[in-house]
Amino acid sequence: MKTRGGYTIDLEGKPAKEIKDLAEPSLLHLPLRTERFDFSELLVREGEEVLQGMVLAADPGNFGLPLLAPRSGRVNLARNPGHVTLENLASEAPKQSFTYPEAYREAEGLDTRQKTVGKLLRKGAWQFFTDAFTGRVPDPASIPQAIIISTVNLEPFSVRGDVQLESRLPNFLRGLEQLQPLLEYQPIHLVFPIFHSALGVKIRAIARGIAWVRLHEIPLLYPHDHPRILARRLGLKRADGVVWSLRTEGILAVDSALTYDQAATRRIMAIGGPAVGLRSHFSAVPGYPIAALREQMGVKEGARLIRGGVLTGSTMGEESLGLDSEMQSLSALSETVDRKLLAFMRTGFGQRSYSRTFASVLRPPFKERLTTALRGEKRPCIACGFCAEVCPVWILPSIIHRQVYADDLDAVEKSRPDLCIGCGLCSYVCTSKIDLRQEILDINETLRLETAVPEEGALA
Ligand code: SF4
Ligand code: SF4
Repeated sequence: MKTRGGYTIDLEGKPAKEIKDLAEPSLLHLPLRTERFDFSELLVREGEEVLQGMVLAADPGNFGLPLLAPRSGRVNLARNPGHVTLENLASEAPKQSFTYPEAYREAEGLDTRQKTVGKLLRKGAWQFFTDAFTGRVPDPASIPQAIIISTVNLEPFSVRGDVQLESRLPNFLRGLEQLQPLLEYQPIHLVFPIFHSALGVKIRAIARGIAWVRLHEIPLLYPHDHPRILARRLGLKRADGVVWSLRTEGILAVDSALTYDQAATRRIMAIGGPAVGLRSHFSAVPGYPIAALREQMGVKEGARLIRGGVLTGSTMGEESLGLDSEMQSLSALSETVDRKLLAFMRTGFGQRSYSRTFASVLRPPFKERLTTALRGEKRPCIACGFCAEVCPVWILPSIIHRQVYADDLDAVEKSRPDLCIGCGLCSYVCTSKIDLRQEILDINETLRLETAVPEEGALA
């Protein structure tokens, strides 16, 4: 299927390719809630000594995904609400082994595939799998119609697949091979940027020799790396079953679990944005203290830290004390405290605009400096049509915006807001600074609640 929409966003603050090693932490704060996971089932006690890789808590709503101890240490539950804090950390991996809680032990009579998937779950690799169509964690018992693996992250300031691969290419290729026995005849689609780097050429040359891997190239247009967009591009249909989707880090976690029998607790992540002194990749474990990270990466005093990229990420509040177990990237933006007087009279020499109406079009290419004033002062929709032009899923955000304001839910539903992948591009380009993405996410939630079947007795 033909792809459409998308945009190349060029902002100041891109993380450099270098990987900085952070100072060893003296304690770790592991959040019990992340964007997608809720590790509500605690499996450790106050003061318990745990070993690296042990299960601290589980997410019952996501097939029991475990929250693993990235280091050996002593559990402190009282210190920070909403976190498991590990103190007295050991710097080396433990020599002794441990017993998993009952739910994670290998049952009798399982076939090879079930044992493999069980190990991926137990070692924390399953959290990197998503259902391309829903964005949720797929059922480990599901048989996918295909697997999509993307080495591309196009949202500004995201961790780069080539940086993650640079020193771990053999692990990546082995991880790919480890996935193949989970399939019967279904293909693995490997996605690369159209841009030909030396590393890309090398991977392509190797992957071309693997019969069950199909190679695909995509343009460097955000959000064409989104799993749902990729699935559609590959002609995969939701009705034909689940499509497992992974990014580079997921394949490295598969290799760690299945080749080394280890949890992939150390990650390569990225921090970018104009409010960071050291925009770079870094190597860290979940739970790493945010305060220490801010200091070492030179995040400016008072800057807003965003979990993820600037278009889809969410603001990290004071209550977030450590990197969470699914975080891959962080962005930092300066808070805008001053109102720009007579903003409408400014020529916009330092500002980019999708509409190309600012004076900045007269300058040679430059990177715009983004602040938290992305939304600016909201104005009525002027029907410029830019939001529809960039939308990769063929919906009309401005029409939905009007229908929402008219409170016409029937009309909204017919406009298919459910197709939205939440990429945020419509909000980014909107001439009137309307946060269309949030409006569409909110209306989808309203529609979901309206159509939800009430539980028995709920109306009594
Ligand atoms: S409507 Fe949804 S999918 Fe389309 S551009 Fe906006 S956020 Fe992206
Ligand atoms: S980009 Fe903004 S102003 Fe333009 S049509 Fe869409 S909602 Fe309206």
